[in-house]
Amino acid sequence: MIRRTFLKTLVASAGASLIDSGMKAANTLPKTEPAVQVQPKKVVIGGAGITGLCCGYELMRAGIDVTILEAAGRYSGHVFTGSDGLSDGLYADFGADHITKPGYERLFAYAEQFNIPVVPYPNAEGSWLPYNNDDLRMIGGKFYTNKMLADLQTLTGLGFNRREAQFLSNNPWYELQDLYLQSYVDKIKDPYQPFGSGLADLDQMSAAEIYKREGASQAAIDYLGGRHTSALYSIWRMAAMKSRGIPPSEGEIFRLKGGNEQLPIAFASRLGARVKLAHPITAIQQSDKGVVVSYREYGYDEDRTLNADFFVNCISLTVFRNIPVTPPLSASKQYVVNNLTYTSHPFYVCRVEETARALGLLWLCPLFPASCAFKSAMTRRVLPPHGPRRADFPQRVLQDTVRPYLPRRT
Ligand SMILES: Cc1cc2nc3c(=O)[nH]c(=O)nc-3n(C[C@H](O)[C@H](O)[C@H](O)COP(=O)(O)OP(=O)(O)OC[C@H]3O[C@@H](n4cnc5c(N)ncnc54)[C@H](O)[C@@H]3O)c2cc1C
Repeated sequence: MIRRTFLKTLVASAGASLIDSGMKAANTLPKTEPAVQVQPKKVVIGGAGITGLCCGYELMRAGIDVTILEAAGRYSGHVFTGSDGLSDGLYADFGADHITKPGYERLFAYAEQFNIPVVPYPNAEGSWLPYNNDDLRMIGGKFYTNKMLADLQTLTGLGFNRREAQFLSNNPWYELQDLYLQSYVDKIKDPYQPFGSGLADLDQMSAAEIYKREGASQAAIDYLGGRHTSALYSIWRMAAMKSRGIPPSEGEIFRLKGGNEQLPIAFASRLGARVKLAHPITAIQQSDKGVVVSYREYGYDEDRTLNADFFVNCISLTVFRNIPVTPPLSASKQYVVNNLTYTSHPFYVCRVEETARALGLLWLCPLFPASCAFKSAMTRRVLPPHGPRRADFPQRVLQDTVRPYLPRRT
């Protein structure tokens, strides 16, 4: 028997940003919270993109009655492999394009579990090719080999100062910011918390100003950018990445053989009739007794409803915000839902472990958010490269935008 009074309804994933404490939630579960003894009968998931499918698959495996409502006539969402118009045997990924090591551990594990071959994809966008290859880079209209770019004279000719040139001749370019920010990063004691380490004043300077103050050349400042990004934000991001052992480059890059849609296909084939295509959700009603999800079936005008103990949102927030929720979400969740733009690098908003715990899936907690395979991109990105952007400094950028949403210090 379910203790319905316990159950809260609208929870879980969807979209973007660390603004809630999702960043921390992904890796840890507060040990002080009591374990829940109940198992819900029914979970409805909104959206059959890779997140919804993955979430549904895990819940199904845990023995939970799950239904996934998908608005479109196909599943997979932004993971889309197409072959129309291409010669026989050719295919292209029009949505999610590549996966990285480190960063997509869950996805690699699923690929292995479902026997989907993973193939190297070294020329993907954003990749940083090793020094010993023959590729050329174009800088200022001229081509350079990697060997040339390790040469001190070439580097100083490009405008870098002696210290920078020496650094770049021995290290990849994407590490250049270490030269100027590492000493600040070392001061951050808690990588989930940019405040409290004596660096708060840096929130009123741009990262570019810090580079300049630390003696960077104009060439380095141009390369590093950061004119509209709070210096504190850049330092905090580096601290968060380093604390998780995530390199600032893309790392090693791969894709799934046959197209990245192979993974959503594998989930969907196991979920079978639990995935309902052409079933757009039109409204959500939540109460302490559960949730009532309204939807339409195959384009008919008539609204139908499904009762469930939980609704898990796996619809992008830019779309989800148009679905009426009664009573409304909490103010902080609603703020995130209203303000987040679509990004190809999603981050968690809500505290997914609340759901997992209430579902009695304590064992799933470290996995639950990241089990949404592509969402494990969050372990790589942690924070977007350029945080909240402001045109001019001084401003208190993080103080004004992020601080209200950070976990309270105890
Ligand atoms: C061009 C491009 C390149 C990308 N490259 C990469 C990459 O290289 N690596 C990477 O990790 N990520 C990449 N991404 C991002 C990645 O594709 C997405 O993060 C991921 O696919 C999001 O999956 P999702 O399931 O969370 O959301 P979605 O794929 O958006 O799925 C949400 C689903 O909800 C459905 N839906 C919407 N409204 C309703 C409703 N009312 N009722 C029911 N269902 C509804 C939608 O139809 C959709 O199927 C890229 C994205 C794009 C567009």
